[in-house]
Amino acid sequence: MTAAVIDGTKLAERIRSQVAADVAALVGIDPTLALVLATADESAAWYVRAIRAAAAKVGVFTRVSDLGADASGPRIAAELAGLAGDPGVHGVILQMPLPAGVSAEPLVSAIPPGKDVDGANPLSAGRLMAGQRAFPPATAAAVMELLGSHGAVLSGAHAVVVGRSMVVGKPVSQLLLAENATVTVCHSRTRDLPAMTRQADVLVAAIGRPGFIGAAHVKPGAIVIDVGTTPDADGKLVGDVDFAAVRDIAGALTPVPGGVGPVTTALLLRHTVSAATPRAV
Ligand code: NAP
Repeated sequence: MTAAVIDGTKLAERIRSQVAADVAALVGIDPTLALVLATADESAAWYVRAIRAAAAKVGVFTRVSDLGADASGPRIAAELAGLAGDPGVHGVILQMPLPAGVSAEPLVSAIPPGKDVDGANPLSAGRLMAGQRAFPPATAAAVMELLGSHGAVLSGAHAVVVGRSMVVGKPVSQLLLAENATVTVCHSRTRDLPAMTRQADVLVAAIGRPGFIGAAHVKPGAIVIDVGTTPDADGKLVGDVDFAAVRDIAGALTPVPGGVGPVTTALLLRHTVSAATPRAV
């Protein structure tokens, strides 16, 4: 069997077209995403450029606050407080990593849930868990969007998520649970990981170890979503799944690059436009 490749680039294009149409329907509102950066990290800068380029294509405005890699916690907090209270800003992202010694938790907690378009505030995570209205982290939402685009039947399916971070593993498992999947969450202390992952109808890899998920981890016909993006020596992104090995076993899988990444960026824009859209009630 050769797996179907779930094309994230094409899906992202479809999402962006819809977002552009939603922007065009807004009257007197310029949807605006603020990106706060306090790092010299090259991949963070690359990510911010990618978001800005995608935003420009669909009519979403961006503002970048580049505070420098030596910004203090209070300086970043003051910036976030200003953006929180600015009615012209609809979405706020605090880009990681932060300067050494600056703790993320109090800072992301200062992003109001209504502007928390990347689901970073623990309040957003709590609301997600309680089934209340909240923006999930865009990467977690991208996993669901890719599964939806493939027509995956999640109700009653066994979904195995490898990774339990607040950005990916935990929110993905909540979103899968909300779709009535039976969810197993695995991590670095899981015993006999291949035995767990081989039970998966849907396998989500969010580990950060290139090529870690191989043929022995995958049940024939499974849908495999690869969240991992680790740059190799040449700066090329490599996924957590050994694509060549798994392609002959899985029913469908996402590539890296061209899978979760572009969909994540498109969903940040969708979330921003949604945050800017007045509600009927
Ligand atoms: P993270 O915070 O480092 O979490 C990694 C998770 O993998 C942890 O829960 C860890 O378990 C688990 N893990 C590590 N080694 C393992 C092993 N040998 N067996 C089983 N589990 C293991 O990483 P993250 O932020 O979730 O990101 C994961 C990957 O996704 C990275 O490659 C990252 O670059 C990528 N990512 C991509 C996007 C995108 O838009 N495409 C967005 C975000 C992240 P413990 O909890 O026990 O340590």
